[in-house]
Amino acid sequence: MRAAGSDAVRRILCVFPRYTSAFATWEYAYPLTDGVRALMPPQGLLLIAAYLPQNWQVRFIDENIKAATGRDFEWADAVFVSGMHIQRKQMNDICRRAHEQNRPAVIGGPSVSACPEYYPGFDYLHVGELGDATDALIAHLARDVSRPAQQVVFKTLDRLPMTEFPVPAYELAELNTYFLANIQYSSGCPYQCEFCDIPGLYGRNPRMKTPQQIIAELDKLREGGSTNTVYFVDDNFIGNRKAALELLPHVIEWQKKHGYPTRLACEATLNIAKRPEILEKMQEAFFITIFCGIETPDPDALKAMQKDHNMMVPILEGVRTINSYGMEVVSGIIMGLDTDKLDTASALLQFIDQSKIPMLTINLLQALPKTPLWDRLEREGRLIDDEGRDSNVRFLLPYDHVVSEWKRCMEVAYDPVKLFERYDYQCEYTYTNRVKAPVGGQLTWANIKRALIILRNVFWKVGVLGDYRRVFWKFALKRLRKGDIEGLLSATLVGHHLVRFAQEATHGNQNASNYSIRLREAAVPAE
Ligand code: SF4
Repeated sequence: MRAAGSDAVRRILCVFPRYTSAFATWEYAYPLTDGVRALMPPQGLLLIAAYLPQNWQVRFIDENIKAATGRDFEWADAVFVSGMHIQRKQMNDICRRAHEQNRPAVIGGPSVSACPEYYPGFDYLHVGELGDATDALIAHLARDVSRPAQQVVFKTLDRLPMTEFPVPAYELAELNTYFLANIQYSSGCPYQCEFCDIPGLYGRNPRMKTPQQIIAELDKLREGGSTNTVYFVDDNFIGNRKAALELLPHVIEWQKKHGYPTRLACEATLNIAKRPEILEKMQEAFFITIFCGIETPDPDALKAMQKDHNMMVPILEGVRTINSYGMEVVSGIIMGLDTDKLDTASALLQFIDQSKIPMLTINLLQALPKTPLWDRLEREGRLIDDEGRDSNVRFLLPYDHVVSEWKRCMEVAYDPVKLFERYDYQCEYTYTNRVKAPVGGQLTWANIKRALIILRNVFWKVGVLGDYRRVFWKFALKRLRKGDIEGLLSATLVGHHLVRFAQEATHGNQNASNYSIRLREAAVPAE
């Protein structure tokens, strides 16, 4: 559904801020692609764009792809911004540029919802999810688009049911310039991990769209020319297992009808390994990757952070089970925990070797506002407000030791020899368990052209110019002998990012946390 119409026609400029360079932006992979410039389209802004009254005009600009110009701001009656904490500096800069043209600046999304105090300069704050605050904001702008004398805060008390969410305005985004397309099926998570802000922000009782909404979104993404991987950005895809089981048959039917055109990925808790009935359907629906917040292989640490559900099956067994259904596990890892010992990094590196997980987001612990961890550390006087540090937590171990162990883990885990050995394992023992997409689904002329461009880039930029070309060719020749072009391309694209990011990180040029408040310049250039 849309917001109620208004007589006044407004022009809304939606600007998504640039990302600060981080592990999870995969930016080092972009030069190997056929023109990818950013990771994923911003769900929140495209949702708001679709919800605005039918007769309002919307212009959407993702500054990871191109910068909004003075003329864009001049065109607008109001400027909408959304983003995460890590984009805080860039969001405040968009606000400044809106004010240069005397346009009201409106901010919504996860960062302002958790920390309204980060954004004193904005004219309007939209705190919380889509709901009564959104309607009040729209009604206000319909009446008056002048800048208010004082900041006005709209806070959602009554959320719009997700079953009434419109399909996000994917048509406004240049979908083929994104590494992945994305969809949101549910919001919220029933668990309460100490460091996580999801239950506090979005609730413990997951809310869902209907399967029909998801199919409509898949259709729209496909029509819009999205690249052929869609990431379910749900906080926990199995937060409501019954709902996941209801959705999957619809997705399977959609894939079969269209010849399996789209690979799928999601985030879910590791205890999904105990649910073969879900894994079987995910395999059939062409899910190829699950991001699991394993966080640490140390059981005492998992207990301390209230993540006992990770131990419902032995962790290595859980990873193997997921692999047996054709899905690669990507793992979140946290260092700097109170339970860490002097040999934690060594234990972690052993776990990485044993699990054969190629990609792990290894972060230093960062306390996010509105989490139990924040509250505890505040009570203990262990929160540090220093943008020069890689974490806002006073660790129990010495800070320099924790950071140097993080660098050691990055260096060893993403040593090209070790990384491509793990990818080789995945090609042999995980990817072979995937659905075989029929000719015509994945094998379109557009995909063939894309694959040829990526192959050329990979051979030239990694195989000829790369500083780990010997390792690459050992891996590549084996894959080529087996006719496994897909394994070769997918591993090299992501692997190249991992190797390059780790090289930068060990030289101190990257943040040790995706959530770090250490505000670096956004590294992805805007035009
Ligand atoms: S399971 Fe994941 S989403 Fe849920 S509370 Fe824990 S970390 Fe957050």
